[in-house]
Amino acid sequence: MTYPRACDSLWSGATLVTMKDGLYHLIEDGVIAVHQGKIVWLGARAQLPEITAAEHHHFDGGIVTPGFIDCHTHLVFGGDRSAEFEMRLNGMSYAEIAAQGGGIISTVRHTREADENELLNSAHQRLQHLLKEGVTTVEIKSGYGLDIDNEIKMLRVIRQLGETLPVEVYATCLAAHAIPPEFSGDGDKWVDVVCEQLLPRVAQEKLADAVDAFCEHLAFSPAQTEKVFAAARGLGLPVKLHAEQLSALAGSSLAARFQALSADHLEYATNADAQAMAAANTVAVLLPGAFYLLREKQQPPVAAFREHGVPMAVASDANPGTSPVLSLRLMLNMACTLFGLTPEEALAGVTLHAAQALGIRESHGSLECGKVANFVHWPVARPAELVYWLGGQLPCTVIYQGEKRDSTF
Ligand SMILES: [Zn+2]
Repeated sequence: MTYPRACDSLWSGATLVTMKDGLYHLIEDGVIAVHQGKIVWLGARAQLPEITAAEHHHFDGGIVTPGFIDCHTHLVFGGDRSAEFEMRLNGMSYAEIAAQGGGIISTVRHTREADENELLNSAHQRLQHLLKEGVTTVEIKSGYGLDIDNEIKMLRVIRQLGETLPVEVYATCLAAHAIPPEFSGDGDKWVDVVCEQLLPRVAQEKLADAVDAFCEHLAFSPAQTEKVFAAARGLGLPVKLHAEQLSALAGSSLAARFQALSADHLEYATNADAQAMAAANTVAVLLPGAFYLLREKQQPPVAAFREHGVPMAVASDANPGTSPVLSLRLMLNMACTLFGLTPEEALAGVTLHAAQALGIRESHGSLECGKVANFVHWPVARPAELVYWLGGQLPCTVIYQGEKRDSTF
């Protein structure tokens, strides 16, 4: 192993939970050496070579994990849907709520009405909660603009969040999220606009790192999804998909055919889907927040993902309708209690496998030499504690790109 004799900082005194290969790989009494924002050495203190450091930080016990990665969110939106949430619990049906202008269309209306500053400020507020829990990388999708100008507006706000906050932000264009109200149910027409006008502009202005779609009876068919994917591929953009959330359409197999970074939700995914995903190295992103809020019964086929070796990630799906989640750590617990993941699998789901779902596994997601120095110190005895506590906020110290991150944003 090569490493510089002099580095910027040394971090010692805690157990390292490296998550190499998606496993804990604990190193007791570990040390991390950081230089120019990257990890240049790590291991047990007893093996520390002769390295001088400009700064030495010593933790008094506890554990250090990789920075958390939330690989599926819809954090930018106007308004919220708490009134609808209450109406539903007072017995009103989805159809009645939709007839009163509720549902996703109400979020589209509020998002269109908001200017960039308003969207930036409200998303900033929500994102803070995630950052306080150790998130150092987040993916955010568009998909509430549903016309060219408003989709572009959302993507610009997403880019700005990455420039104004100490968090790495990945932007995804989810224009194929719902059929815009102006298209009165004609999804084909909107897909043509997305493929022929919106995506080329998004690619040219470098406003997105990936393209996503919602493949479902109430959204876009596999054929429409395939068109969006083909357009994305033509522009050199990787794809991912909301698939098999409410029914089995083999969307995740379609995603695998396009070497998708991930297929997400997957409650109704089949064994064949899992096999196709494994062959394409497509990550299964599990979203227990939406499953919980919608009181779904069908669980994603975790056993099939394990059997075929499909990496599983866990994300917040933070959105105003079906998953108003502001805690990724709570999702760790729900992935275990609702879907049967082990705490080790859940933790891999917000670190190494979440990095893979964003196409950044080579540089992020585990404590390894050469990777970006994003890591979190937690004053707890073992990693399972991060999954175990419900509610409250565990104090943590975040090291972001090699520097201690201020917790006031
Ligand atoms: Zn989503």
